[in-house]
Amino acid sequence: MSTTVLLAPFPSCPDCRRPLQLRFDTKYVYCLNTRCEFDGVAAGEVVGDEGQPGRGLPRPVSKGRSVPWVAPVIGDQVTWKALNAVRVRAAEQHWLCQYCGDALNSAPTAWVVVAQGEVAAGDGLHKGCLELAREECPALRNDPCFVFAEVRREDQAHDWSPVIERLMAYEDQHGRLPDLVPLHS
Ligand SMILES: [Zn+2]
Ligand SMILES: [Zn+2]
Repeated sequence: MSTTVLLAPFPSCPDCRRPLQLRFDTKYVYCLNTRCEFDGVAAGEVVGDEGQPGRGLPRPVSKGRSVPWVAPVIGDQVTWKALNAVRVRAAEQHWLCQYCGDALNSAPTAWVVVAQGEVAAGDGLHKGCLELAREECPALRNDPCFVFAEVRREDQAHDWSPVIERLMAYEDQHGRLPDLVPLHS
């Protein structure tokens, strides 16, 4: 028998204050009150920061997977495909790691995920956190669409365009992109 672990409280419905719950594709929340009309709101927008798993390593585990700091948690479910909007903004503004939530300042550089010529939402990660995320997520490990680039904080101020330029220069020079592209390569 498995026990259900409540990782975070259910957020409440803005209309009737009853709990909201994840359903279907685990990206949207629905009001449990059948008489309430409130439906299909993006999970990443309702969770906020309060009651969500805190910062640091090791991450809490749900269904055998570590839960990144930016993943919204609703009850015992994790919305793996969504991002906690409040935490993504905090990560951007304060240069925090999207995986563990701790400051990236302790390391001189950080790493970002690049897909289809753009830096993926959620911003930077510690090198160690990127390795943990890739160990756990087969898509991040095997999908050739993803490239991981080492970055400086200044790159973010220019909408990451220096990162994309460095990747393009690397590809021009070497004819291909490896999955990990360090700053000086
Ligand atoms: Zn409601
Ligand atoms: Zn980290």
